[in-house]
Amino acid sequence: MGLAFFYMAKKYKIAVIGGGLAGLSFLRKALQSDLAQEDILLIEDSPKTKNDRTWCYWSPELLFPEIPHVAERNKVTLSASLVNTTKSLKKCKYYELNSLAFYNCIYDKIRETKNIDVVYDKVVNLSTTNGFHTITTANVTFQSDFIVNSVPKMIQKDFPVFGFNQNFYGQRIKLDKRVFSKDYVTLMDFEENLHNKVGFFYVLPYSDKEALVEYTQLSNQIEDKAYYQAKIQKYLWEKFGVKNFEVTDEEEGAIPMTNFKFSKNPTKNIFQIGIVGGDTKSTTGYTLSSVQRTCDEIIKCISTGKLTTTKYNRFKFYDRLMLYLMEYKPKLIPNILATLFQRNDGDLVLNFLDEKTSLLDEVKIFMNLPWAPFLNALKNIYLKKYEADLQIDTKSVVGGNV
Ligand SMILES: Cc1cc2nc3c(=O)[nH]c(=O)nc-3n(C[C@H](O)[C@H](O)[C@H](O)COP(=O)(O)OP(=O)(O)OC[C@H]3O[C@@H](n4cnc5c(N)ncnc54)[C@H](O)[C@@H]3O)c2cc1C
Repeated sequence: MGLAFFYMAKKYKIAVIGGGLAGLSFLRKALQSDLAQEDILLIEDSPKTKNDRTWCYWSPELLFPEIPHVAERNKVTLSASLVNTTKSLKKCKYYELNSLAFYNCIYDKIRETKNIDVVYDKVVNLSTTNGFHTITTANVTFQSDFIVNSVPKMIQKDFPVFGFNQNFYGQRIKLDKRVFSKDYVTLMDFEENLHNKVGFFYVLPYSDKEALVEYTQLSNQIEDKAYYQAKIQKYLWEKFGVKNFEVTDEEEGAIPMTNFKFSKNPTKNIFQIGIVGGDTKSTTGYTLSSVQRTCDEIIKCISTGKLTTTKYNRFKFYDRLMLYLMEYKPKLIPNILATLFQRNDGDLVLNFLDEKTSLLDEVKIFMNLPWAPFLNALKNIYLKKYEADLQIDTKSVVGGNV
Protein backbone atom coordinates (compact mmCIF):
# COMPACT_ATOMS: atom_id res chain seq x y z
CA MET A 1 0.00 0.00 0.00
CA GLY A 2 2.79 2.40 0.98
CA LEU A 3 4.65 1.54 -2.23
CA ALA A 4 1.51 2.04 -4.33
CA PHE A 5 0.93 5.47 -2.79
CA PHE A 6 4.54 6.52 -3.46
CA TYR A 7 4.32 5.65 -7.14
CA MET A 8 0.86 7.22 -7.57
CA ALA A 9 2.10 10.49 -6.08
CA LYS A 10 5.05 10.61 -8.46
CA LYS A 11 4.60 11.86 -11.99
CA TYR A 12 7.11 10.82 -14.59
CA LYS A 13 8.36 12.56 -17.67
CA ILE A 14 8.46 9.25 -19.56
CA ALA A 15 6.89 5.86 -18.89
CA VAL A 16 8.49 3.00 -20.81
CA ILE A 17 6.07 0.09 -21.09
CA GLY A 18 7.78 -3.24 -21.77
CA GLY A 19 11.39 -3.94 -20.82
CA GLY A 20 12.43 -6.22 -23.67
CA LEU A 21 14.63 -5.37 -26.65
CA ALA A 22 12.87 -2.13 -27.60
CA GLY A 23 12.14 -0.71 -24.14
CA LEU A 24 15.68 -1.38 -22.92
CA SER A 25 17.27 -0.08 -26.14
CA PHE A 26 15.32 3.13 -25.62
CA LEU A 27 16.48 3.46 -22.00
CA ARG A 28 20.08 2.73 -22.96
CA LYS A 29 20.03 5.55 -25.51
CA ALA A 30 18.00 7.90 -23.26
CA LEU A 31 20.74 7.58 -20.64
CA GLN A 32 23.27 8.81 -23.22
CA SER A 33 21.07 11.79 -24.22
CA ASP A 34 19.53 15.03 -22.89
CA LEU A 35 16.84 12.87 -21.27
CA ALA A 36 19.33 11.27 -18.85
CA GLN A 37 18.26 13.53 -15.94
CA GLU A 38 14.49 13.11 -16.43
CA ASP A 39 12.26 11.02 -14.16
CA ILE A 40 11.58 7.80 -16.04
CA LEU A 41 9.46 4.78 -15.16
CA LEU A 42 9.95 1.32 -16.66
CA ILE A 43 7.11 -1.18 -16.28
CA GLU A 44 7.91 -4.75 -17.25
CA ASP A 45 5.73 -7.79 -16.76
CA SER A 46 8.41 -9.94 -15.15
CA PRO A 47 12.16 -9.90 -14.40
CA LYS A 48 14.43 -11.16 -17.19
CA THR A 49 16.25 -14.20 -15.89
CA LYS A 50 16.59 -16.35 -19.02
CA ASN A 51 18.66 -16.16 -22.14
CA ASP A 52 15.49 -16.31 -24.24
CA ARG A 53 16.71 -15.01 -27.63
CA THR A 54 19.77 -15.38 -29.83
CA TRP A 55 19.97 -11.94 -31.42
CA CYS A 56 21.99 -11.37 -34.58
CA TYR A 57 22.49 -8.24 -36.62
CA TRP A 58 24.91 -6.99 -39.23
CA SER A 59 26.68 -3.69 -38.99
CA PRO A 60 30.07 -2.09 -39.73
CA GLU A 61 30.57 -1.80 -35.94
CA LEU A 62 29.16 -3.21 -32.70
CA LEU A 63 25.82 -1.60 -31.85
CA PHE A 64 26.37 -2.26 -28.12
CA PRO A 65 30.15 -2.05 -27.56
CA GLU A 66 29.75 -2.27 -23.77
CA ILE A 67 28.01 -5.69 -23.96
CA PRO A 68 30.11 -8.81 -24.57
CA HIS A 69 28.99 -10.45 -27.83
CA VAL A 70 29.02 -14.19 -28.48
CA ALA A 71 30.53 -14.05 -31.94
CA GLU A 72 31.25 -11.99 -35.03
CA ARG A 73 31.29 -13.72 -38.40
CA ASN A 74 32.34 -12.41 -41.78
CA LYS A 75 30.96 -14.96 -44.24
CA VAL A 76 27.29 -15.48 -45.10
CA THR A 77 25.94 -18.40 -47.09
CA LEU A 78 22.65 -18.95 -48.85
CA SER A 79 21.77 -22.32 -50.40
CA ALA A 80 19.01 -23.16 -52.84
CA SER A 81 18.65 -26.13 -55.19
CA LEU A 82 21.94 -27.56 -53.89
CA VAL A 83 23.84 -24.44 -54.97
CA ASN A 84 25.74 -22.70 -52.16
CA THR A 85 26.56 -19.03 -52.49
CA THR A 86 29.00 -17.71 -49.91
CA LYS A 87 29.85 -14.04 -49.65
CA SER A 88 32.68 -12.59 -47.63
CA LEU A 89 31.63 -9.44 -45.88
CA LYS A 90 34.10 -6.60 -46.28
CA LYS A 91 32.46 -3.74 -44.41
CA CYS A 92 29.83 -5.41 -42.21
CA LYS A 93 30.14 -8.20 -39.69
CA TYR A 94 27.39 -10.56 -38.64
CA TYR A 95 27.26 -10.13 -34.86
CA GLU A 96 25.61 -12.40 -32.32
CA LEU A 97 24.41 -11.31 -28.90
CA ASN A 98 22.70 -13.27 -26.12
CA SER A 99 19.56 -11.56 -24.90
CA LEU A 100 20.45 -12.26 -21.24
CA ALA A 101 23.77 -10.40 -21.55
CA PHE A 102 21.81 -7.47 -23.03
CA TYR A 103 19.10 -7.52 -20.31
CA ASN A 104 21.66 -7.83 -17.48
CA CYS A 105 23.86 -5.02 -18.74
CA ILE A 106 21.01 -2.55 -19.21
CA TYR A 107 19.08 -3.46 -16.06
CA ASP A 108 22.36 -3.07 -14.08
CA LYS A 109 22.82 0.39 -15.58
CA ILE A 110 19.20 1.32 -14.77
CA ARG A 111 19.57 0.16 -11.16
CA GLU A 112 22.55 2.51 -10.76
CA THR A 113 20.45 5.44 -12.05
CA LYS A 114 18.46 7.20 -9.31
CA ASN A 115 15.91 8.87 -11.60
CA ILE A 116 14.69 5.61 -13.21
CA ASP A 117 12.15 3.50 -11.30
CA VAL A 118 11.54 -0.10 -12.36
CA VAL A 119 8.22 -1.77 -11.58
CA TYR A 120 7.51 -5.41 -12.35
CA ASP A 121 3.80 -5.54 -13.07
CA LYS A 122 1.40 -6.14 -15.95
CA VAL A 123 0.04 -3.00 -17.61
CA VAL A 124 -3.69 -3.42 -18.20
CA ASN A 125 -4.79 0.00 -19.43
CA LEU A 126 -3.65 3.36 -20.75
CA SER A 127 -5.73 6.54 -20.85
CA THR A 128 -5.11 10.25 -21.47
CA THR A 129 -6.66 13.24 -19.65
CA ASN A 130 -5.51 16.87 -19.61
CA GLY A 131 -2.27 16.01 -21.36
CA PHE A 132 -1.25 13.37 -18.80
CA HIS A 133 -1.13 9.70 -19.62
CA THR A 134 -2.42 7.34 -16.97
CA ILE A 135 -0.97 3.86 -16.91
CA THR A 136 -2.85 1.26 -14.94
CA THR A 137 -1.31 -2.01 -13.86
CA ALA A 138 -2.96 -4.79 -11.94
CA ASN A 139 -1.89 -3.06 -8.69
CA VAL A 140 -1.06 0.61 -9.20
CA THR A 141 -1.72 3.70 -11.34
CA PHE A 142 1.02 5.98 -12.71
CA GLN A 143 1.09 9.22 -14.67
CA SER A 144 3.54 10.46 -17.28
CA ASP A 145 3.97 13.14 -19.95
CA PHE A 146 5.28 10.69 -22.55
CA ILE A 147 4.82 6.98 -23.15
CA VAL A 148 7.19 4.69 -25.02
CA ASN A 149 5.30 1.44 -25.56
CA SER A 150 6.49 -1.93 -26.86
CA VAL A 151 3.60 -4.05 -25.56
CA PRO A 152 1.18 -5.43 -28.14
CA LYS A 153 -2.54 -4.65 -27.79
CA MET A 154 -1.88 -1.75 -25.42
CA ILE A 155 -2.65 1.05 -27.86
CA GLN A 156 -3.60 -0.47 -31.17
CA LYS A 157 -6.64 -2.38 -29.96
CA ASP A 158 -6.99 -4.07 -33.30
CA PHE A 159 -3.36 -5.23 -33.31
CA PRO A 160 -2.86 -7.28 -36.47
CA VAL A 161 -4.15 -9.56 -38.18
CA PHE A 162 -0.77 -10.60 -39.52
CA GLY A 163 -0.14 -11.70 -43.06
CA PHE A 164 1.66 -14.76 -41.83
CA ASN A 165 4.36 -15.62 -39.35
CA GLN A 166 7.96 -16.64 -39.52
CA ASN A 167 7.60 -19.66 -37.24
CA PHE A 168 10.87 -21.13 -36.10
CA TYR A 169 12.39 -23.59 -33.70
CA GLY A 170 16.10 -24.17 -33.14
CA GLN A 171 18.42 -26.46 -31.25
CA ARG A 172 21.92 -25.73 -30.06
CA ILE A 173 23.72 -28.97 -30.75
CA LYS A 174 27.06 -30.65 -30.03
CA LEU A 175 28.50 -33.35 -32.29
CA ASP A 176 31.40 -35.80 -32.31
CA LYS A 177 32.22 -34.98 -35.94
CA ARG A 178 33.82 -31.82 -37.28
CA VAL A 179 31.31 -30.46 -39.81
CA PHE A 180 30.84 -26.73 -39.24
CA SER A 181 33.06 -23.75 -39.94
CA LYS A 182 32.68 -21.05 -37.33
CA ASP A 183 33.27 -18.12 -39.72
CA TYR A 184 30.21 -18.97 -41.82
CA VAL A 185 26.60 -18.29 -40.99
CA THR A 186 24.10 -20.07 -43.21
CA LEU A 187 21.33 -17.49 -43.44
CA MET A 188 19.02 -19.70 -45.49
CA ASP A 189 19.35 -23.25 -46.70
CA PHE A 190 16.06 -23.78 -48.50
CA GLU A 191 14.10 -26.96 -48.08
CA GLU A 192 13.38 -28.53 -51.46
CA ASN A 193 9.98 -29.84 -52.60
CA LEU A 194 7.92 -28.00 -50.04
CA HIS A 195 4.40 -27.34 -51.29
CA ASN A 196 2.73 -23.96 -50.77
CA LYS A 197 5.23 -22.78 -48.17
CA VAL A 198 8.72 -21.41 -47.79
CA GLY A 199 10.92 -23.40 -45.39
CA PHE A 200 14.60 -23.02 -44.66
CA PHE A 201 17.37 -23.88 -42.19
CA TYR A 202 19.55 -21.33 -40.41
CA VAL A 203 22.94 -22.50 -39.09
CA LEU A 204 24.98 -20.46 -36.64
CA PRO A 205 28.21 -22.35 -35.85
CA TYR A 206 30.23 -21.83 -32.65
CA SER A 207 33.00 -24.30 -33.49
CA ASP A 208 33.48 -27.14 -35.96
CA LYS A 209 31.42 -29.39 -33.64
CA GLU A 210 28.82 -27.02 -32.24
CA ALA A 211 26.06 -24.87 -33.77
CA LEU A 212 22.57 -23.45 -33.41
CA VAL A 213 20.45 -25.08 -36.13
CA GLU A 214 17.00 -23.60 -36.71
CA TYR A 215 14.17 -24.55 -39.01
CA THR A 216 11.84 -21.76 -40.17
CA GLN A 217 8.57 -21.93 -42.01
CA LEU A 218 6.62 -18.98 -43.34
CA SER A 219 2.99 -19.80 -42.65
CA ASN A 220 -0.06 -19.13 -40.52
CA GLN A 221 0.23 -22.43 -38.80
CA ILE A 222 2.44 -23.09 -35.79
CA GLU A 223 3.40 -26.77 -35.88
CA ASP A 224 4.23 -28.73 -32.75
CA LYS A 225 7.82 -29.09 -31.57
CA ALA A 226 8.19 -32.65 -32.86
CA TYR A 227 7.57 -31.42 -36.41
CA TYR A 228 10.51 -28.98 -36.27
CA GLN A 229 12.73 -31.48 -34.47
CA ALA A 230 12.15 -34.06 -37.21
CA LYS A 231 13.07 -31.45 -39.85
CA ILE A 232 16.35 -30.64 -38.06
CA GLN A 233 17.20 -34.30 -37.60
CA LYS A 234 16.64 -35.04 -41.29
CA TYR A 235 18.63 -31.98 -42.33
CA LEU A 236 21.64 -32.91 -40.18
CA TRP A 237 21.64 -36.38 -41.64
CA GLU A 238 21.20 -35.38 -45.28
CA LYS A 239 23.49 -32.34 -45.22
CA PHE A 240 26.27 -33.44 -42.86
CA GLY A 241 25.80 -37.20 -42.37
CA VAL A 242 25.17 -36.59 -38.68
CA LYS A 243 22.87 -38.94 -36.79
CA ASN A 244 23.88 -38.47 -33.17
CA PHE A 245 24.02 -35.13 -31.47
CA GLU A 246 23.48 -33.64 -28.04
CA VAL A 247 20.94 -30.81 -27.67
CA THR A 248 22.22 -28.24 -25.15
CA ASP A 249 19.59 -25.50 -25.63
CA GLU A 250 16.48 -24.67 -27.64
CA GLU A 251 14.69 -21.54 -28.83
CA GLU A 252 11.51 -20.82 -30.73
CA GLY A 253 9.57 -17.87 -32.01
CA ALA A 254 6.84 -16.54 -34.25
CA ILE A 255 7.66 -13.20 -35.83
CA PRO A 256 4.99 -11.32 -37.80
CA MET A 257 5.48 -10.86 -41.54
CA THR A 258 2.86 -8.37 -42.59
CA ASN A 259 2.21 -5.16 -44.46
CA PHE A 260 0.01 -3.96 -41.60
CA LYS A 261 0.51 -0.22 -41.13
CA PHE A 262 1.89 -0.03 -37.60
CA SER A 263 1.65 3.43 -36.09
CA LYS A 264 4.79 4.80 -34.46
CA ASN A 265 3.02 7.80 -32.94
CA PRO A 266 -0.69 6.94 -32.59
CA THR A 267 -1.55 9.70 -30.07
CA LYS A 268 0.17 12.88 -28.96
CA ASN A 269 3.23 12.03 -26.85
CA ILE A 270 2.75 8.29 -27.19
CA PHE A 271 5.39 6.43 -29.16
CA GLN A 272 5.38 2.81 -30.21
CA ILE A 273 8.58 0.89 -30.66
CA GLY A 274 9.77 -2.65 -31.40
CA ILE A 275 7.47 -5.15 -33.06
CA VAL A 276 4.40 -3.10 -32.12
CA GLY A 277 5.95 0.02 -33.67
CA GLY A 278 6.58 -1.71 -37.00
CA ASP A 279 10.34 -2.05 -36.47
CA THR A 280 10.35 -5.65 -37.69
CA LYS A 281 11.36 -5.89 -41.33
CA SER A 282 8.34 -7.66 -42.74
CA THR A 283 10.26 -9.87 -45.16
CA THR A 284 13.14 -10.95 -42.90
CA GLY A 285 11.93 -10.69 -39.29
CA TYR A 286 15.09 -8.80 -38.27
CA THR A 287 14.20 -6.06 -35.76
CA LEU A 288 17.19 -5.17 -33.61
CA SER A 289 18.90 -2.63 -35.89
CA SER A 290 15.77 -0.72 -36.83
CA VAL A 291 14.75 -0.51 -33.16
CA GLN A 292 17.98 1.44 -32.56
CA ARG A 293 17.06 3.92 -35.30
CA THR A 294 13.54 4.35 -33.88
CA CYS A 295 15.00 5.03 -30.40
CA ASP A 296 17.07 7.89 -31.85
CA GLU A 297 13.97 9.34 -33.54
CA ILE A 298 11.86 9.16 -30.38
CA ILE A 299 14.57 10.75 -28.23
CA LYS A 300 14.81 13.57 -30.77
CA CYS A 301 11.03 14.01 -30.74
CA ILE A 302 10.79 14.14 -26.94
CA SER A 303 13.75 16.50 -26.68
CA THR A 304 12.52 18.88 -29.39
CA GLY A 305 8.75 18.48 -28.92
CA LYS A 306 8.24 17.46 -32.56
CA LEU A 307 6.03 14.56 -33.63
CA THR A 308 7.32 11.55 -35.49
CA THR A 309 5.36 10.16 -38.36
CA THR A 310 5.27 6.63 -39.67
CA LYS A 311 7.12 6.73 -42.96
CA TYR A 312 5.98 4.49 -45.77
CA ASN A 313 9.11 4.49 -47.82
CA ARG A 314 10.00 2.60 -50.98
CA PHE A 315 11.29 -0.37 -48.93
CA LYS A 316 7.74 -0.99 -47.69
CA PHE A 317 6.71 -1.19 -51.33
CA TYR A 318 9.46 -3.73 -52.16
CA ASP A 319 8.51 -5.73 -49.06
CA ARG A 320 4.90 -5.76 -50.15
CA LEU A 321 5.81 -7.36 -53.47
CA MET A 322 8.00 -9.95 -51.70
CA LEU A 323 5.26 -10.70 -49.16
CA TYR A 324 2.87 -11.33 -52.00
CA LEU A 325 5.31 -13.79 -53.58
CA MET A 326 6.00 -15.49 -50.22
CA GLU A 327 2.26 -15.96 -49.70
CA TYR A 328 1.10 -16.85 -53.21
CA LYS A 329 4.21 -18.02 -55.11
CA PRO A 330 6.39 -19.63 -52.42
CA LYS A 331 8.14 -21.90 -54.92
CA LEU A 332 9.77 -18.86 -56.56
CA ILE A 333 11.36 -17.56 -53.35
CA PRO A 334 14.48 -19.78 -53.19
CA ASN A 335 15.43 -18.85 -56.74
CA ILE A 336 14.79 -15.13 -56.24
CA LEU A 337 16.89 -14.98 -53.07
CA ALA A 338 19.62 -17.22 -54.52
CA THR A 339 19.86 -14.86 -57.51
CA LEU A 340 19.96 -11.84 -55.22
CA PHE A 341 22.92 -13.36 -53.35
CA GLN A 342 24.75 -14.78 -56.37
CA ARG A 343 24.73 -11.64 -58.48
CA ASN A 344 25.41 -8.96 -55.89
CA ASP A 345 28.10 -8.00 -53.42
CA GLY A 346 27.44 -9.42 -49.91
CA ASP A 347 27.63 -6.06 -48.11
CA LEU A 348 25.30 -4.52 -50.68
CA VAL A 349 22.68 -7.24 -50.17
CA LEU A 350 22.81 -6.87 -46.38
CA ASN A 351 22.60 -3.09 -46.66
CA PHE A 352 19.59 -3.49 -48.93
CA LEU A 353 17.90 -5.79 -46.40
CA ASP A 354 18.65 -3.18 -43.72
CA GLU A 355 17.07 -0.44 -45.90
CA LYS A 356 20.34 1.49 -46.13
CA THR A 357 20.92 1.44 -49.89
CA SER A 358 20.46 4.33 -52.32
CA LEU A 359 17.91 4.23 -55.14
CA LEU A 360 20.77 3.73 -57.59
CA ASP A 361 21.99 0.67 -55.62
CA GLU A 362 18.47 -0.72 -55.70
CA VAL A 363 18.17 -0.24 -59.46
CA LYS A 364 21.41 -2.24 -59.85
CA ILE A 365 20.06 -4.98 -57.58
CA PHE A 366 16.73 -5.18 -59.43
CA MET A 367 18.47 -5.35 -62.82
CA ASN A 368 19.97 -8.62 -61.61
CA LEU A 369 16.69 -10.17 -60.45
CA PRO A 370 14.04 -12.02 -62.44
CA TRP A 371 11.44 -9.35 -63.23
CA ALA A 372 8.40 -11.35 -64.25
CA PRO A 373 7.32 -12.50 -60.75
CA PHE A 374 7.52 -8.95 -59.42
CA LEU A 375 5.52 -7.47 -62.31
CA ASN A 376 2.94 -10.19 -61.78
CA ALA A 377 2.84 -9.44 -58.03
CA LEU A 378 2.39 -5.73 -58.81
CA LYS A 379 -0.51 -6.45 -61.15
CA ASN A 380 -2.22 -8.75 -58.66
CA ILE A 381 -1.75 -6.46 -55.67
CA TYR A 382 -3.48 -3.60 -57.41
CA LEU A 383 -6.11 -5.53 -59.30
CA LYS A 384 -7.08 -8.14 -56.74
CA LYS A 385 -7.16 -6.22 -53.45
CA TYR A 386 -4.25 -8.12 -51.98
CA GLU A 387 -4.52 -6.04 -48.78
CA ALA A 388 -7.83 -7.66 -47.97
CA ASP A 389 -6.40 -11.11 -48.65
CA LEU A 390 -3.75 -10.61 -46.01
CA GLN A 391 -6.13 -9.72 -43.20
CA ILE A 392 -6.41 -13.14 -41.71
CA ASP A 393 -6.64 -14.15 -38.12
CA THR A 394 -3.53 -15.24 -36.32
CA LYS A 395 -2.01 -15.69 -32.88
CA SER A 396 0.08 -13.10 -31.05
CA VAL A 397 3.84 -12.84 -31.13
CA VAL A 398 5.58 -15.49 -29.08
CA GLY A 399 9.13 -16.46 -28.57
CA GLY A 400 11.97 -17.42 -26.33
CA ASN A 401 13.60 -20.42 -24.81
CA VAL A 402 11.50 -23.52 -24.46
C1 LIG B 1 13.72 -16.48 -30.36
C2 LIG B 1 13.82 -15.20 -31.12
C3 LIG B 1 14.99 -14.87 -31.81
C4 LIG B 1 15.07 -13.66 -32.51
N1 LIG B 1 16.24 -13.36 -33.17
C5 LIG B 1 16.37 -12.17 -33.77
C6 LIG B 1 17.61 -11.80 -34.40
O1 LIG B 1 18.54 -12.60 -34.45
N2 LIG B 1 17.73 -10.55 -34.93
C7 LIG B 1 16.70 -9.64 -34.90
O2 LIG B 1 16.88 -8.51 -35.38
N3 LIG B 1 15.50 -9.99 -34.38
C8 LIG B 1 15.31 -11.20 -33.80
N4 LIG B 1 14.11 -11.53 -33.22
C9 LIG B 1 12.97 -10.60 -33.39
C10 LIG B 1 12.96 -9.44 -32.37
O3 LIG B 1 14.22 -8.81 -32.32
C11 LIG B 1 12.59 -9.88 -30.98
O4 LIG B 1 11.33 -10.49 -30.98
C12 LIG B 1 12.56 -8.70 -29.97
O5 LIG B 1 12.52 -9.25 -28.69
C13 LIG B 1 11.39 -7.75 -30.19
O6 LIG B 1 11.53 -6.68 -29.31
P1 LIG B 1 10.27 -5.98 -28.59
O7 LIG B 1 10.82 -5.07 -27.56
O8 LIG B 1 9.33 -5.48 -29.62
O9 LIG B 1 9.50 -7.19 -27.85
P2 LIG B 1 9.99 -7.95 -26.56
O10 LIG B 1 11.46 -8.08 -26.54
O11 LIG B 1 9.17 -9.19 -26.50
O12 LIG B 1 9.60 -6.97 -25.36
C14 LIG B 1 8.27 -6.74 -24.97
C15 LIG B 1 8.29 -6.75 -23.43
O13 LIG B 1 7.00 -6.38 -22.93
C16 LIG B 1 6.72 -7.18 -21.79
N5 LIG B 1 5.26 -7.18 -21.65
C17 LIG B 1 4.34 -7.83 -22.41
N6 LIG B 1 3.09 -7.54 -22.00
C18 LIG B 1 3.22 -6.65 -20.96
C19 LIG B 1 2.30 -5.97 -20.13
N7 LIG B 1 0.97 -6.07 -20.31
N8 LIG B 1 2.77 -5.14 -19.16
C20 LIG B 1 4.13 -4.97 -18.98
N9 LIG B 1 5.04 -5.59 -19.76
C21 LIG B 1 4.60 -6.41 -20.72
C22 LIG B 1 7.31 -8.53 -22.13
O14 LIG B 1 7.55 -9.29 -20.95
C23 LIG B 1 8.60 -8.14 -22.86
O15 LIG B 1 9.70 -8.04 -21.98
C24 LIG B 1 13.96 -12.76 -32.54
C25 LIG B 1 12.78 -13.12 -31.88
C26 LIG B 1 12.70 -14.31 -31.19
C27 LIG B 1 11.39 -14.64 -30.51
